[in-house]
Amino acid sequence: MLGLLFLIGAALTSWVFGLSRLMTWLVLGVVWLAFIPISGQLGRLGGDSLQGWMVLGFLGLAVFLYQSGLRWIRGHVGPIEPETGETTAEAQAIPPGLSDPEIDRYARHLVLREIGGPGQMRLRDARVLVVGAGGLGAPICLYLAAAGIGHITVIDGDTVSLSNLQRQVIFRSDQQGQMKAAAAAANMAALNPHIAVEPVARALTEDDGSLIAAHDLVLDGTDDFETRSLVNRLCVRAKVPLLAGAIAQWEGQVTLYDPAHGGPCLSCLFPEPPARGLAPACAEAGVVGALPGVIGSQMALEAIKHLTGAGLGLRGRLLVYDGLYGETRMIGIEKRGDCPVCGSPLEAGPKAS
Ligand SMILES: [Zn+2]
Repeated sequence: MLGLLFLIGAALTSWVFGLSRLMTWLVLGVVWLAFIPISGQLGRLGGDSLQGWMVLGFLGLAVFLYQSGLRWIRGHVGPIEPETGETTAEAQAIPPGLSDPEIDRYARHLVLREIGGPGQMRLRDARVLVVGAGGLGAPICLYLAAAGIGHITVIDGDTVSLSNLQRQVIFRSDQQGQMKAAAAAANMAALNPHIAVEPVARALTEDDGSLIAAHDLVLDGTDDFETRSLVNRLCVRAKVPLLAGAIAQWEGQVTLYDPAHGGPCLSCLFPEPPARGLAPACAEAGVVGALPGVIGSQMALEAIKHLTGAGLGLRGRLLVYDGLYGETRMIGIEKRGDCPVCGSPLEAGPKAS
């Protein structure tokens, strides 16, 4: 009992003095060792037995080894290293392809272990399509442009109106009446002159398969089910991953639809359009101004992760954010074999019984 108290005391002291994990285990080990002869004595006196003390020691060792093993595994499967297999030092090296102003501009990316020089070059070589320059499109376009995505296409058939300006922060008041795609492209180019921005001032149609296929990644920030289904169908057909976000009132969600790599598509989750009135657009249901900022920024962040290979993406996971209560949940989502859009024809057929 006395030994146990000493062990707890040692652990608390290590914690108070902020000792590292290894140092804490070392201190506990020394206390344990020091009590071996004492506990032997106590055993004869009828107190702690040596046997119990040894069992405690082995349990401690097992916990230590388990923890160390977990840390080793995390360290090896954590952030995905660049595919070319460079070491961290090489990953940080500044690639010769970046000009001095670009090195200065992207300095905070270049020092990140998960992005570095090679990651920044991947962003520069990437072609990203943003569907919808609205509430979600605004932060998406701004952050993708600022991050140095080399080629951004933005497609939107709408014009800037006064009621957009409460949340669509890419536009200025004096741009009311302009085509959203053109106004957004002008402001992105003004933010970052090193990238190419291509505005497409019309709505997406069923014939836009080649437009989708010409990009590495599509971000969908539109808010009606028909357009979202259309973007999903075209992306599945072209095998282009789709980062989709949705917002209403105080709640938003983000995920990556990538059936070509085993993830689900929009239709796996929502095979049928929602009943009329169940999923009203922002114009009817309302949306709090900063919410598209949260969800759109999250989409831009996931795009940067996807293109550079950093961290763990949202394939097979739906991130749900409740702005009213400040809560975030992660929901696992799965590809459906009988999905009418991405399911394989064999699996989609009638099941033999
Ligand atoms: Zn599907």
